[in-house]
Amino acid sequence: MQIKIDAHTHTLASTHAYSTVFENAAFAKKNGLDGFGITDHTPPIQDAPDILHFMNLHVLDRQIDGVELLRGAELNIVDYKGGVYLDKEILKRLDYAIASFHDMALTPGSKAENTAAYLGAMDNPYVAIIGHPEDGRVPVDFEQLVLAARSTKTLLEINNSSLRAAYYRLNTRENMIEILRLCEQYGVAVSMGTDAHFAPAVGRFDETLELLEEIHFPQELVANLSVEKFKMLIGGKKA
Ligand SMILES: [Zn+2]
Ligand SMILES: [Zn+2]
Repeated sequence: MQIKIDAHTHTLASTHAYSTVFENAAFAKKNGLDGFGITDHTPPIQDAPDILHFMNLHVLDRQIDGVELLRGAELNIVDYKGGVYLDKEILKRLDYAIASFHDMALTPGSKAENTAAYLGAMDNPYVAIIGHPEDGRVPVDFEQLVLAARSTKTLLEINNSSLRAAYYRLNTRENMIEILRLCEQYGVAVSMGTDAHFAPAVGRFDETLELLEEIHFPQELVANLSVEKFKMLIGGKKA
């Protein structure tokens, strides 16, 4: 399986990431991608840029040295109803948004509360992808999550950083397998993201690709096999 677009990368704009847009583009190309998305953190977490960062993404070239750039954001879910920080007027300008649970923005609650938070975020037409839902520090009813992803046409992310050694998320491998099996059962597509915080990691899906192959996950449910397929699937909700 060849991944052609990395849907989740960070730049210097998030202070805990260390590379520029150009550096991400260069490694995207070197690692065989046709496209990548810039998805920096949004307020209210401390390390996020000002909302002006998201309002001004349109100044970025669409193509950098033959690699397509998509303009995105990694939104924080800020309450158990699935509220997110950026408002509609800014979200409208982006190509897509990932909504993620970060404990700096919202303390993980009970399984029912966390699941309700994800379901609420998926009802937002601008949320195309749920980021790293396998993080065991945020207990979730995965069957409900996958069924809601199907009914709202939201992609669930398979996050390569979550499978890297010494990572701080919990039970990621077991949870990811459970999510993938449910996605296969219910025909829900997944989005591949490295969550790279340093340019050489852009486009490196070593751990997640190995897992997809190990469990024989069907290729047709992977959104990132081409830039066109990815764009079609992230556009499904707004239509
Ligand atoms: Zn995240
Ligand atoms: Zn991220």
